Amino acid sequence: MDENFNFDTLAVRAGTLRSDFNEHSEAIFLTSSFVFKSAAHAAESFKNAEEAYTYSRFTNPTVAMFQNRLAALEGGEACMATASGMAAIMSVVMCSMQQGDHLVSSKSLFGSTVGMFSQIFTKFGITTTFVDPTNLDEWRAAVRPETKMFFLETPSNPLTEIADIEAIGKISKEVGALFVVDNCFCSPALQQPLKLGADVVMHSATKFLDGQGRVLGGALVGSKQFIMEKVFPFVRSAGPTLSAFNAWVLLKGMETLSLRVEKQSANALEIARWLETHPAIERVFYPGLESHPQYAIAKKQQKAGGAIVSFELKGETREEQRANAWRVIDATKICSITGNLGDTRTTITHPSTTTHGRLTPEVREAAGIREGLIRLAVGLENAGDIRADLERGLNG
Ligand SMILES: *Cc1c(COP(=O)(O)O)cnc(C)c1O
Repeated sequence: MDENFNFDTLAVRAGTLRSDFNEHSEAIFLTSSFVFKSAAHAAESFKNAEEAYTYSRFTNPTVAMFQNRLAALEGGEACMATASGMAAIMSVVMCSMQQGDHLVSSKSLFGSTVGMFSQIFTKFGITTTFVDPTNLDEWRAAVRPETKMFFLETPSNPLTEIADIEAIGKISKEVGALFVVDNCFCSPALQQPLKLGADVVMHSATKFLDGQGRVLGGALVGSKQFIMEKVFPFVRSAGPTLSAFNAWVLLKGMETLSLRVEKQSANALEIARWLETHPAIERVFYPGLESHPQYAIAKKQQKAGGAIVSFELKGETREEQRANAWRVIDATKICSITGNLGDTRTTITHPSTTTHGRLTPEVREAAGIREGLIRLAVGLENAGDIRADLERGLNG
């Protein structure tokens, strides 16, 4: 499809394939394998496994539609879908690194990503140095001769720190590392890291791409050479493949991606501004607020602040801070108490006892995740109703 179409057109149209039945909506190809006209046709297809359809661990038409649409939205040449976001992280490391190689990563990461870098890949001799994502000197100082990859998540979870993608991309290029950006929190509707110097964009499609909390999925987007020569051979052999059904759900989700993310960002900004004025609140973390320490960078690289707002309740002691946070959470009637995010339904989380509960109190404090902290992933409900839902516990 013509790359010059605008984002919203690509989100609805890019990647569509039609079968001989001329269906209008994308078809779900629930088939594990494909048949051939002859032995010669089978031989030819297996030789050309990137293009021909042979077996759904390799390629599937519904999955191909998802891949082509996401590649178009991120402005990348090619995409490989995976069964989840974590499967995408596993694949990008396993396909491009080997024993003795070194990774430099932001320390503000999704919890399971930290687990992969610090406990799983180390078993295969791949080590990671964690750095403050906002401190360029730390990125530079962590580089070793064997550094092969830079890994970044921005905005970070749950404190919404913003790292400068362009500046980190320059350092990565200087040292010849592959720069991978987890673009889960913004989605391509708000931020396109490949245009800012990233080599690979990684997604948990489970979040905003689906947007309605239904399926797991993941993806890697990058150059045709990297995706087809590195990622594809790994995924087709190891098998962390996306199912055709999930790909179809994600295709439908992407059609409304920018509508949802823009409205969720507007709701989040309204709620963040209001929270900032509330006497029970110590601090609000939201990249769309002028008070955010990296507001200028957010404005430069994101179209809006995104749907995630975190805020910290006041309290004299840790116990009191936790009690205050739990009171706000328990007093809500609309917000769903759950760890997921990116849904049309607003979700509310107490990071220090759930998503970050396995960290020691010292590590948690050092990461700035205090007992009074609440993470809100704002949905599509009426912003006034969400405010009223939070106000009940804040005033209690
Ligand atoms: C959820 C998430 C992941 C992992 O994705 P799954 O689809 O749950 O495997 C990775 N990174 C970020 C930022 C996430 O929010």
